[in-house]
This record gives sequence, structure tokens and C-alpha cells, in this order.
Amino acid sequence: MGMDAGLKEGLAALAGSPVSWDCPLRDYTSFAIGGPAVALITVQDLAELQGLLLFFVEHKIKWRIIGRGTNLLVSDAGFDGVILLLGKGLGDLCRVNGGENDGPVVQAGAGCSLTRLVSWCLDQGLSGLEFVAGIPGTIGGAVIMNAGAWGHELSEVLVSVTVVTSSGQICTLPRTELDFGYRIWHDPYRSQGVGAGTEWVVVAVGLQCVAADQGQIRTLCQSYRQKRQEKQPKGEPNAGSFFKNPAGDAAGRLIEASGLKGLRVGGAMVSPVHANFLVNSGGATAADVLELMVKVRGKVHEDSGILLEPEVHLL
Ligand SMILES: Cc1cc2nc3c(=O)[nH]c(=O)nc-3n(C[C@H](O)[C@H](O)[C@H](O)COP(=O)(O)OP(=O)(O)OC[C@H]3O[C@@H](n4cnc5c(N)ncnc54)[C@H](O)[C@@H]3O)c2cc1C
Repeated sequence: MGMDAGLKEGLAALAGSPVSWDCPLRDYTSFAIGGPAVALITVQDLAELQGLLLFFVEHKIKWRIIGRGTNLLVSDAGFDGVILLLGKGLGDLCRVNGGENDGPVVQAGAGCSLTRLVSWCLDQGLSGLEFVAGIPGTIGGAVIMNAGAWGHELSEVLVSVTVVTSSGQICTLPRTELDFGYRIWHDPYRSQGVGAGTEWVVVAVGLQCVAADQGQIRTLCQSYRQKRQEKQPKGEPNAGSFFKNPAGDAAGRLIEASGLKGLRVGGAMVSPVHANFLVNSGGATAADVLELMVKVRGKVHEDSGILLEPEVHLL
């Protein structure tokens, strides 16, 4: 999509920081893959976000919000529209009192990284989010993914989600009205998670915590990080687990059992360290990763009868 000079001018006037035009998205994904977006804007506050979303609707401009791009495969052709990121102004953290019988609640701006959230909770002596220690990305992206590890997932501690819709409305939705599944939020605006980030933006979340001893919180976080270090590939860009685990089994085990560790297509490779990580071993394109994905799915299906479903979102 080209964008005419008038639209570019309008967009630049609404954005609170300089617009990156023709912006390579490989720099914004953990896979280090992806062609350019027409524009990329880092949004700093709610009013700016509301103004931009209304502008997109009015001018029929495609847009998508992303976090740190740690669960994302962006096409080689890039994105024919505007990519939004949440800046520091939409990543604040604060502690509020929960209900009479509940512990404290952390209110987190959706742009906050999970790393910062975990370390802030440790400083505050708040327990409940240790399981996300070591998961990259933002808390906004983690809600969309219902991110999880070690038998826990984000929806367990979620109290509320605040979104801005494409019509500019701000709505806070209590957890009781939200429906989550394994690595998916069945969002109330669209019925499939893969369309996430195109109709509305998560701007804040409330997370239930309990007051606890800092030493215990630190030890638990360290042990989770340590286990990741031991099990996951280092130094080769990736997007974490590529496929969802099928019920009662592990995608990594099935891929390894099919003898696919180390399989390559171009620069994309099934990690020899953990078979459910497809890595960019150097110069991989999105087409390489997709072809590798098809080969892996095909062979695992042939061998086990199980059709693996990607966890990674496509853009
Ligand atoms: C090394 C590594 C390890 C990982 N380990 C785990 C793990 O143990 N468990 C796990 O669950 N995941 C894991 N992941 C995947 C990933 O880190 C998580 O899913 C993370 O929560 C994604 O956050 P993000 O901000 O990067 O989202 P992105 O990848 O940027 O986006 C994910 C999706 O959410 C949408 N989105 C993002 N932000 C918003 C928003 N504010 N509003 C609306 N839509 C939005 C995007 O459009 C996209 O569809 C891992 C990834 C890596 C690279």
C-alpha cells in the first residue's frame, strides 16, 4: 500500500513521536525476520492511541499493534499498513488494594516488559508472577497469548483487561467476562485470537498477587530462569515454542521422535537443542521458516497422526 502525502502528513501530526516510514520489521521481532511496514509509530499515551485508531478507521488504513515481536513471524513482504508499539508512557506499574479477602493487585500498562514486571514484583515482595520469569515480550502480548510456563498461565492471575477499541472507546473487562484457552484469548471483539491486535489494543491489565517473602520469590524466579537456560537454544533468533503442545503430549518430543532436529530450509533450522524451537541460524526468510514448518507438520503427521498447530502468530 502506498500512502499519499496528505495521509502521511495527517499521521505525522497525530503521532506524538517521529513516524518511522518504510520501517524494516526484522528489527522488531525476536526472529529477526520480516520486511518493511509502511510506517511504525511508538504510541506514548491513550489520547494519542485513540486519535490514531479513529484516523485508521476513517481512512481505511490497515494497522496492527505488536509488543516485542517475540511470538511473531512477519512475512518477507512486510506489512501493508501501520505498526503500533506501546511506549514507556503505556508501561507503568502500580500496586492497588484488591478486595477484602484478596491480596494486592498489580496494575500494569500493557507496554511493560515481562522482565521489568517480574523484577518490580520482586522489589515489592509480590508473588504470583514468578512463572513468567525469563519469558520475553510485553504483558499486553502475554495476555493475547495467555502466555504460560511450568504449569501456570497468565489467565490464572488476571483480574481485568483494559482495551481501547478501534472506535476509540476505553473499556475495562473483568476476568469473569473473559474466555481463555491454551495460548489463546477468545477475545470478546473477535472470536479468534489470531486476529489479535487488529481491532483493539490492550492497554492495561490487573494481576492478582499475594504478599510474600522476597527471598522465596527470588529463588523461584532464578530456578525458572535456570531451567530455561538449560533447555532452550541460545544465540540463534527464534520465537520460542513454534507449535502448541497437543493434548497429553509435547510438540518437541514428537518432532524429535520424527528425527527432525537439525532439519534445515535455507537459513531456518529445527533447533538441535530443543526440537520445538525453529531458529534463524543466519539469513533466514519468513518463506524459509514457513517451508520448514510445513515439512515438520507433514512428517510429524505422517509418523504420529497428530497435526501440530502453530503457536506463533503470522503477520
Ligand atoms: C526465547 C523465547 C522463549 C519464550 N518462552 C515462552 C514461554 O515459556 N511461554 C509462553 O507462553 N511464550 C513464550 N514465548 C513467546 C512470547 O514471548 C510470549 O508469547 C509473549 O507473551 C509475547 O509477547 P510480545 O509482546 O512479544 O507479543 P508479540 O509477539 O509482539 O505479539 C503477539 C500477538 O499479540 C498481539 N499483541 C501484542 N501486543 C498487543 C496489545 N497490547 N494489544 C493487542 N494485541 C497485542 C500481536 O498483534 C500478536 O498477534 C517465548 C519466546 C521466546 C523468543
